[in-house]
This record gives sequence, structure tokens and C-alpha cells, in this order.
Amino acid sequence: MSAASVRLTAAQLLAIQRAAEAAYPEEACGLLVGRREPGGAWCVGAVEASANVAEPPRTRRFEVDPRLRLRLMRTLRDEPDDVIGVYHSHPDGRPEPSDTDRAMIFEPEMIWLITAVAAGRAGATTAWRPTGDGEAFVPLGLALGEGEARPE
Ligand SMILES: [Zn+2]
Repeated sequence: MSAASVRLTAAQLLAIQRAAEAAYPEEACGLLVGRREPGGAWCVGAVEASANVAEPPRTRRFEVDPRLRLRLMRTLRDEPDDVIGVYHSHPDGRPEPSDTDRAMIFEPEMIWLITAVAAGRAGATTAWRPTGDGEAFVPLGLALGEGEARPE
């Protein structure tokens, strides 16, 4: 397995999938709390669901509630973990970054998880990292628990 991967537990992935299904047909979103390990992998410690505060229609866009970000930054001030990424869903879309997502890269160090939802059922979840210039995404591996989570 390459070092460029994101590690999360089955329960964390399930929480993202459930949020994606609950928000359908709108996009679900939230933040990932965790840390970058010395080997280069991102280790997710917690998944924090957010309201999607984007202007409607929210079927093709999302915006994490800035109050969640502020609350987490305060909570994590004295912790080793930090806000390391964002997750959102693609209702009836593909589990890969859209043009809208590429236009929304404001923090190149943040990782992204994208969950596809088809007819209300969560499908594949993929992991991405913006390029250093913030112009594009490159895929990351997704390691689930002890094993490797494969895109469907
Ligand atoms: Zn998207």
C-alpha cells in the first residue's frame, strides 16, 4: 500500500455513508478530524457532520457550516489532532471531484472524501488530495480498518 492514503474505521465510513443517504437528494458534507502520520498517511480520528449551508439547490453543491469549523478549531486547540479534510456526497453522481469541487479548492492541504449516492443508496467513497497549486485533485488510497477499501 502506498503511503499516500487515508485511514478510517468502518464505523467512520458508515457514518459518512449514512449522512450521504440522509441528505439525499441534496449533498451531505462534514469535516474530518485527525492527523498526518510521519509516513505520510492521513489518519482520521473523527467524522464531524455539518449542515449543508450552501445556497439552494444543494443537489450539486455544498458548503460546510463555518460555525462547525470554528467550534472544532477551539476544541482542538490543545489536541494533537486537527481539521484535516472535508467529506461530501454526490447524489446520483460519480465518486470523483466535479468542476465545482475543483473551483472550491481553497486549502490545498485539506484532503477530500467523496461518496456517490445512487437513488438514495450510498455507493463508492473515494479519497483525494488537491495538487500544491490548488488547481486539481490527485487520488489517494482509502484504507479501511485493517484492510483496503476498494472503490466499487
Ligand atoms: Zn462535489
